[in-house]
Parts: sequence; structure tokens; C-alpha cells
Amino acid sequence: MNEIRLQKAMADAGVTSRRKSEELILAGHVKVNGKKVSQLGTKVSPHDEIMVDGIPVEREKLVYYLLYKPRSVITSVKDEKNRVTVMTFFPDVDERIYPVGRLDYDTSGAVLMTNDGELANQLMHPKFKMEKTYQAKVRGIVTPDDLKRLEAGVVIDRRKTAKAKASLISTDNVKKTSLVSLTIHEGRNHQVKKMFQVINKPVMKLKRESYGFLNLDGIQPGKWRALKLNEVNRLK
Ligand code: URA
Repeated sequence: MNEIRLQKAMADAGVTSRRKSEELILAGHVKVNGKKVSQLGTKVSPHDEIMVDGIPVEREKLVYYLLYKPRSVITSVKDEKNRVTVMTFFPDVDERIYPVGRLDYDTSGAVLMTNDGELANQLMHPKFKMEKTYQAKVRGIVTPDDLKRLEAGVVIDRRKTAKAKASLISTDNVKKTSLVSLTIHEGRNHQVKKMFQVINKPVMKLKRESYGFLNLDGIQPGKWRALKLNEVNRLK
């Protein structure tokens, strides 16, 4: 049967991390089917009822979707200003999915959506160094020196960015704009826009082309596809 360790089931359900779940188990906060479990090693099936401090843990099938977020969409589950959120594109999905990380309102591109709390935490952790490739249309003609600076790291918010990959895709010498591909593995706030600001080439349009090995091939803006099992396993 489809059994997994209790601490993993708790982490998958978004209770907390796997390690903190172990602590909760050892401290006697967890019951399975009404019985206290205070040792590690217990396995549970999808039908077992887990309770933490008397509160049932809602368990769902884990789902993973890659969305092509259009521009003018908020990357969050709710928006207090009632703007369109990424959830709009999933009207028939019952699982409590949410976006892994954020794209700005005016940025389009690849967003991973899941209800797998453990994977989401792992992917968003800086240690994981998830690669993200952006295509930026910027004002001005980007020079080889600009590319070198972006690659070596520039100072934003008083801290240097990590090494990156940057290449020039094309330039429009009449409109004085450039199209640049930039791959980073950090996820700092407005990072790409700030990096281009430093080299004095403000971003006019930004698209995240890929999230790790996941790209937008075959997906239209506002549409998504479910990840294949081997893709989910590769992310873990
Ligand atoms: N960097 C930005 O500046 N904006 C995004 O949406 C993503 C990365």
C-alpha cells in the first residue's frame, strides 16, 4: 500500500517541515487513528487519520502544475484588491494549491503550483539554488561589459548577487532596446529588474522562460499542464 513515514505525511500536508514534524511526534503531540505516536518510524497510508494537538490534518493527493502566468496577474492565492490571481486559472482544481515563489504583477512566465508543502519549502530555500531563466526586454543597448557585470554579480540592496549567466539575444538599434537572457539561482525581491537597474538598462518587459528544467514549451499564457511523475521526482 501507499505508505509513507508519518513525518513526511505531515510535511506533505503543510503542517511544518519534516524535521519539525519529527520533533512534534517525539514530544507526543501527534495521534494516528486516535492513538498517540511518540516514536519515529511509523508509516501511514492515505486513509489514516493524523491529528496534531487534537486538530485533524487535512491530507490531499499531492498535485503539481506548471502555469504560464500572463502579465497583470498576482502570484498569490488571494488579493485584497480583488485583482486577478494565479488561482483564476484553476477553477476546477479542488486541492489547496499555491504558487511556489513569486513573479511580479507585470512579469509573465513559468510558475509552479502545488499543494506539496515540503517540496515548495525546499525549492524556495536559497540553499536549493533553483535556476530560473528570464528573458528581459530592456531600454538601451546592452554591451559585452554589461553582460560581464551581470554574470559576475552586481550590488542590489547592499548585497552582491551570485554568479549568473547572461547573453544577448538581439538588439533594436532604432528603438534602442535589447533582449537579454539571464539565468539566476537566487530569488531576491525584484531581483532581475534591480540587476538591470544597476547597469542602467531598465527592464521594460520581463518573462520567466523556465523554472529549473521546466519550460513553457506547448503552454499558452493563462494555461497550465500537470507535471509528469518523472518531472516531480526530478524536482525532489
Ligand atoms: N525578478 C524580477 O525583478 N521580477 C520578477 O517577477 C522575477 C524576478
